[in-house]
Amino acid sequence: MSGGGRAMQVYREMSEHLGELGRPSPLKEGKSPFPVLVSTLVSLRTRDAVTEKVSSRLLDRAPDPESVLALPEGELENLLMPAGFFRQKARQLRGICAAVLERYGGEVPDSVEELLTLPGVGRKTACYVAGMAFGKPAVCVDVHVHRISNRTGLVTTRTPEETERALMQLYPRDLWNRINHLFVRFGQRVCRPVAPSCGRCPFSGWCPSGGSGGKRTRTGARR
Ligand code: SF4
Repeated sequence: MSGGGRAMQVYREMSEHLGELGRPSPLKEGKSPFPVLVSTLVSLRTRDAVTEKVSSRLLDRAPDPESVLALPEGELENLLMPAGFFRQKARQLRGICAAVLERYGGEVPDSVEELLTLPGVGRKTACYVAGMAFGKPAVCVDVHVHRISNRTGLVTTRTPEETERALMQLYPRDLWNRINHLFVRFGQRVCRPVAPSCGRCPFSGWCPSGGSGGKRTRTGARR
């Protein structure tokens, strides 16, 4: 089977296996850019349920960059507190809001390149926001996407950036924005970093890492 054919098989079977769970959260998809950016920042190293609760509470209190900057520092930290690294996230959010106001007239920029100019925004967040908030085709590669792409042999890459480029070659543009959510859910439930559930994985018949505890038998990322 060609690389593109295998990639589409993975996409289809993963979607079928996950059903509703494979579809993006309504909190992010179709929302205006600032809430998407905020919830993406909150989500880093934080469980989904906590992310949704914290993001909703924060955005109710401060729905735009001006109102975030108007919050006393302690209140902003308190609003973020149930999320991991809340002090760091409060500092980063303030920096992002200031930059959005100063450089982009208060509007979150819509391109990956411009999003990358915001303080602390990395490629993963920039691609996610460009895709989910603006519908721009972008492959957001986090640890789950990188690990599963390598374990299944779709790619043989060492870095998330290499994986992003490889997946862009394998998948049609209209699927790029769907890859992250689908792979993340699959990585949380089936192909976990440690002790993947190969026995109930739809790819166990051909996956080069199947039954090996997720370790690749060829080159490429192992986790
Ligand atoms: S067979 Fe195992 S290692 Fe391969 S994708 Fe499925 S869970 Fe992951």
